[in-house]
Amino acid sequence: MSSLQPVRGTHDLLPDDSRRHRAVEEAAFAVARRYGFGEIITPIFEFTEVFSRTLGDTSDVVTKEMYSFQDRGGESITLRPEGTAGVARAFISGGLTQNLPLKLFYRGPMFRYERPQKGRQRQFHQIGVELLGVEGPQADIEVIAMGLDVLDALGLKDRVRLELNSLGDAESRATYRQALVAYLSARKDRLSPDSLERLERNPLRVLDSKDEGDKAVVAEAPLLGDYLNEPSRAFFQAVQEGLTAVGVPFILNPKLVRGLDYYSHTAFEFTTTALGAQGTVLAGGRYDGLIGQMGGPATCGIGWAAGVERLSLLLGEVPDPTRPLAVIPMGEAAATEALKLCMRLRRAGFAVEMGYSGNLKKRLARANKMGARAALILGEDELARAVVAVRDLDSGEQQDVALSTLENALGCYR
Ligand code: ATP
Ligand code: MG
Repeated sequence: MSSLQPVRGTHDLLPDDSRRHRAVEEAAFAVARRYGFGEIITPIFEFTEVFSRTLGDTSDVVTKEMYSFQDRGGESITLRPEGTAGVARAFISGGLTQNLPLKLFYRGPMFRYERPQKGRQRQFHQIGVELLGVEGPQADIEVIAMGLDVLDALGLKDRVRLELNSLGDAESRATYRQALVAYLSARKDRLSPDSLERLERNPLRVLDSKDEGDKAVVAEAPLLGDYLNEPSRAFFQAVQEGLTAVGVPFILNPKLVRGLDYYSHTAFEFTTTALGAQGTVLAGGRYDGLIGQMGGPATCGIGWAAGVERLSLLLGEVPDPTRPLAVIPMGEAAATEALKLCMRLRRAGFAVEMGYSGNLKKRLARANKMGARAALILGEDELARAVVAVRDLDSGEQQDVALSTLENALGCYR
């Protein structure tokens, strides 16, 4: 360990990165607002139970990935690995159960002890939405369409595809589970140790395995879609028809299961081929069992979460929209006046950079590099005449402007 290194899997976001990061968050929230979602900000840690009870004690997140510790009061605390459990906890403990339907947007850091690689960190960030209290497939359609609108707002619509599946209701899953267990049990010798354990405790999760041997076995496994009962089939049909009606293209992926235990019916992922193995950028589904399972009143829900870092990787450069004015004092006498001028213009609402050192040519070059709209040159000659030489850095035109009327004259640079 070197205490001056960032912890493995964590990153500092420098201004170019954080601008991209904020652009993703802001674009997502702007879209969510148009769908009537408000922001919820929950704590980044919760009692460990909030996650172990909801994510299920066989999920990868709970068994291998949680950052848990005992606090000084002896409580077991976990840094949140995902957003839904905390939102559900807030829904129950905050007495929001009468406020249905409830539409919530969240953003913020998540923590998972994973093997770091491109698009996979130990501290990463998600944006996400939860729609609580709507039973019908309209909720699924709107929430998925909103996901596509977010990706569209980021200019990524054509670089992703939507994969869709149904996990059916509890009855359908129970029937399927039997068929799957029978199939997998006959092929135990080909399964990874992890999947052997999943087979005992939560066989559906074997479908989600990333192990190559497991994948080969899973390729021939019975499909959940063939075991959906009539209501589940009708629900899935309605979701598909609705998506088509609102112009959201999708492909069916009968192998798509979500990594977490509380999902039912609709499961979906927006994926890209541009990020190597970490191809899922936005993923979600319906979780009708979650809130009841946590001890709240039975309440259905659907939502999604997207990885901000993965979206940022796809986004490329996001230029800084602020084009400042560069104040360039020449000579000792102008230094204090220039400082005063900077302050005066900032207080009047302009973005202003001070050119600190170097000759005029150097300072102009620096002003150009930072994308300044204009340079305000203040030398002894200008001071004596109570003017500033304003050089438009796009056109190269330069003119003297009286100090007293400067704000007006600079109006076009605001
Ligand atoms: P994966 O299969 O990639 O591990 P997951 O099923 O664990 O994904 P979710 O819990 O559904 O992921 O989280 C939603 C989204 O959050 C993912 O699609 C991804 O974009 C992002 N995400 C998840 N884990 C990480 C991580 N460790 N680092 C960066 N982004 C992540
Ligand atoms: Mg994962």
